Amino acid sequence: MNIILFGPPASGKGTQAKRLVEQGFTHLSTGDMLRAERERGTDLGKTVAEIMDTGGLVSDDIVIRLIEQEISKNPQGSFVFDGFPRTVAQAKALQAMMTSHGVFIDLVIRLDVDIDRLLSERVIARGRSDDNPKSFKKRLNQYIAETTPVAEFYRTKLASVPGMYPIEIVSKEIDKAIKIVRERD
Ligand code: AMP
Repeated sequence: MNIILFGPPASGKGTQAKRLVEQGFTHLSTGDMLRAERERGTDLGKTVAEIMDTGGLVSDDIVIRLIEQEISKNPQGSFVFDGFPRTVAQAKALQAMMTSHGVFIDLVIRLDVDIDRLLSERVIARGRSDDNPKSFKKRLNQYIAETTPVAEFYRTKLASVPGMYPIEIVSKEIDKAIKIVRERD
């Protein structure tokens, strides 16, 4: 089973991704992969550094290649995609590569949050240099702009989970959505 996990900054997405790993999923975060390339000082890391620092999107080709490398290691694995796909072109490429391995995206989980509430009360201090209110707002708006067309692409697979509830409730809702898909297939 393969899942895409969408959630804005400060939505608890990282916590949920970790939980899914405990359930046996392999976590594929393009953000983590790109940060690892930077840390290793690879050519790719150098190419993407400035784009990442200015909040832009790395080219579709680069992230698609990174994802393809991981999927081809174990095409029948259960993946949870995080931070990918961010564009419809990436979603289409993912679909093509999965189809070529005879596998599919089964479920797209979107953690929905009250953006205004997040902005007013959850600001901020999580220790990320980009977590000042202005850049936080920018990241939120960017997330919405990116996610909307991609969520539309996956509308038949989309499960919206209210992300503002306590972690245990969000976790239960996610597990419920997974169970429904498992029992259906
Ligand atoms: P994240 O940790 O998912 O917020 O990603 C950090 C940064 O990596 C983003 O701001 C983008 O610059 C880049 N990035 C991560 N995933 C993607 C993606 N799927 N497409 C384009 N750029 C990405």
